[in-house]
Amino acid sequence: MRRKLAAGNWKMNGTATALAELETLAAAGARNQTDVLICPPATLISRAADSAGGALDIGGQDCHANTSGAHTGDVSAEMLKDAGASHVILGHSERREDHGETDVDVNAKTIAALAGGLIAVVCVGESLAEREANQTLDVIGAQLAGSIPDDVSGATLVVAYEPIWAIGTGKVPTLEQIGEVHDFMRAELGARFGSDVGDAIRLLYGGSVKPGNAAEIFAVSNVDGALVGGASLKAADFGAIITALDAA
Ligand code: PEP
Repeated sequence: MRRKLAAGNWKMNGTATALAELETLAAAGARNQTDVLICPPATLISRAADSAGGALDIGGQDCHANTSGAHTGDVSAEMLKDAGASHVILGHSERREDHGETDVDVNAKTIAALAGGLIAVVCVGESLAEREANQTLDVIGAQLAGSIPDDVSGATLVVAYEPIWAIGTGKVPTLEQIGEVHDFMRAELGARFGSDVGDAIRLLYGGSVKPGNAAEIFAVSNVDGALVGGASLKAADFGAIITALDAA
């Protein structure tokens, strides 16, 4: 049985005052079936880990493929772990777009994350043009194949399906479209890693998840949780999403 996961991606939002939201979430205590992860900006990871007090997991939003060296502005998996992170988001479409990250880059970063003792949350997703050209499953299949290294397990890898056109737009795929991609990802992972590993890897949906649409999304097959951007910034909204997931 896969535990559910509600993951919040704060992106480049939040200074010390934002920790109050995290403290509110932490005060609600552990959920029965749901792990809760907050990925704040790197500047807040250490303080967020302190504020969470073990009630929530804390993650980074990216890491470098190397452990150390002349890479100004980057952080390594070891540094994230040292700061209190247990997870790291990799291959988010904003990293792929803003920084030209390829599947090869994401693969190398995932290897580094796992070597550094972090759980990797690897993101995949199609553009609107790819969706309209009926290329979605081809794109997702190629991203899974290219971005995920060979040595993974359900304990070390989470995959997030995030259609680029749904991120921050208020647009959400139909439940059938979400189910089609999640069933496809489950089958692809099972074919590559065997059904034991493939069935253990948690699959998150991300893209304009809100308290009002969370329950119906969480009822879709092979949706084990959500990666949430905007609605993770406020404890009231993210708390409602967590509650919907825990009840699903
Ligand atoms: C995201 O950036 O991972 C995301 C899903 O954003 P939003 O929830 O705001 O669409």
